[in-house]
Amino acid sequence: MDRQLLEIGAQALRKIALNEDTKNHVLTNPALFQLFKKAANRYIGGETLEETIVKVNAFYKLKCSIEFMGESTRTEEESNFAADEFIRIAEQIRLQKLNATISLDLSHIGLAVSNELCLKNLNSICQEASKSNIEVIISAEGTERTDAILEVYKQGIKTYDHLAITLQAYLFRTKEDFAELIKEKGRIRIVKGAFQTAEGLSIPRGEKLDEVYLDYIEQLLMQHHKCSIATHDAKIQEKAKQLIQKYKPEKENYEFESLFGIGNGQLFLLKDEGYQTKLYFVYGKEWYLYLCNRIAEYPMNIFQALGDIIEE
Ligand SMILES: Cc1cc2nc3c(=O)[nH]c(=O)nc-3n(C[C@H](O)[C@H](O)[C@H](O)COP(=O)(O)OP(=O)(O)OC[C@H]3O[C@@H](n4cnc5c(N)ncnc54)[C@H](O)[C@@H]3O)c2cc1C
Repeated sequence: MDRQLLEIGAQALRKIALNEDTKNHVLTNPALFQLFKKAANRYIGGETLEETIVKVNAFYKLKCSIEFMGESTRTEEESNFAADEFIRIAEQIRLQKLNATISLDLSHIGLAVSNELCLKNLNSICQEASKSNIEVIISAEGTERTDAILEVYKQGIKTYDHLAITLQAYLFRTKEDFAELIKEKGRIRIVKGAFQTAEGLSIPRGEKLDEVYLDYIEQLLMQHHKCSIATHDAKIQEKAKQLIQKYKPEKENYEFESLFGIGNGQLFLLKDEGYQTKLYFVYGKEWYLYLCNRIAEYPMNIFQALGDIIEE
């Protein structure tokens, strides 16, 4: 019953997140803006790169990934604007000698306009990033984009070794994608998968998915292929630790990765135990959607948000 109620709440939040009227109301009403922003601050680096770098520096001893939030950019101009911001991230990581990588959604830099535009922008970002070997990690998006994302990645990895890709363990198709992409040098980040899919395309959360997730991680560790274990699931992290002890990958070949604001205590413990870890920061003006998604995927976070809102 409790689970059912939480699921109803989560579905409602997903709808609220996508409702433009509600979003505009929150963002243009000063009182609501302040309240929601306080709740969002737990999960975001800030609205700007500069604010984010202050937070990144606070966690300096921990490796970080930085993303300028956004997706599904519909025009060439907006896509180029986003790409310029990612170039600025790469410049600042280099100039400020941050221990950081870049994460991005290809649909933020042009994929929703055309593959060509996206590739052009990805090239510019990777060129700047390659000046100091900064890794650029491509995120996984909804299933309607998976083919296009993997196509752009396969093009990009021909030129840039430091390009990496995210695969969603919950998709049945990932088995074949994984078998193909493990032949490339780029790091593979394994996530469970965040998007709703059409029926028959994905494995629901549960033991089967955990098994599949760990199987991908085991294959990557066994082959000493660069990988990221991107989950907040303590059970999986525990089992991954055993696999790391078994296969003894080089330091640069694996990392535990968590989103800023979620399960960070677990990540710090992993770091204290000597494992490679990375914290993923997002920043930008699109924090409203990001906040709703973080609550929707784990509805108990609504209580955390309430606590954050009333905190002085
Ligand atoms: C670094 C990183 C990058 C990602 N990139 C992508 C991507 O490119 N594409 C994509 O589809 N998905 C991405 N995701 C999201 C991912 O697919 C999952 O939806 C998300 O991580 C939740 O699944 P989980 O494995 O962490 O744990 P779940 O199976 O969802 O939950 C297991 C346990 O983890 C804890 N937990 C999980 N989520 C939360 C939360 N929000 N708040 C508090 N506790 C929580 C709870 O204790 C929960 O019981 C990314 C996740 C990470 C960490």
